[in-house]
Amino acid sequence: MDLSGLPQFTIEEIRHTPGDPEVVLVGRLSHLRGVRNQAAWLYRSTGPSLIGTVAQIPTLTHDSVEYRTSDTALAPELRVGAVYPWIDYYWQSYHVAMVLAGRWEHRTFTPEAAHYFRLGGVTGWQPVGAKLPEGAEDLGVREGAWDHEHCELCRARIGDPESRDGYVDPEKHWLCRACHDRYAITRDISFVIDD
Ligand SMILES: [Zn+2]
Repeated sequence: MDLSGLPQFTIEEIRHTPGDPEVVLVGRLSHLRGVRNQAAWLYRSTGPSLIGTVAQIPTLTHDSVEYRTSDTALAPELRVGAVYPWIDYYWQSYHVAMVLAGRWEHRTFTPEAAHYFRLGGVTGWQPVGAKLPEGAEDLGVREGAWDHEHCELCRARIGDPESRDGYVDPEKHWLCRACHDRYAITRDISFVIDD
């Protein structure tokens, strides 16, 4: 399934309110498969996607939908009549972009050192060599502590002895073998609308 299989949001009216930084895009969805949350992305192939919310999750196809967003400056092409694929916020827009881009390389996960820090009472870690966040307390490097990744689509662990194989894209997103074989090979984004 490609972008055309997602719910398509057609903009029928653009409402600006003086003093309100948010814009209301009034429109209709072509179908409601995968529409579960009040937040959603309007997907743009040409640049950043818009994030916004609806006051109520639509329950009927062709219900009028009022989508509030403060991202309209990102979309110079936005106008009445424009159509955008709708991605429920259960997903991130990059999940769709990375599968459509299809730049995956097989890789066997090997543990790496992790640089630990504490910030605001929370312990975190990051790759060795990256600059620690502003104000972070340095807790030092622990060898082999970065011992797994998660599949971006199904959250499966990658890195355990029985599941070291995965696929990585240039942005270092990981996919498990099953999700790679099911979605990435054919650039299928049906995971967005599957229940
Ligand atoms: Zn997976």
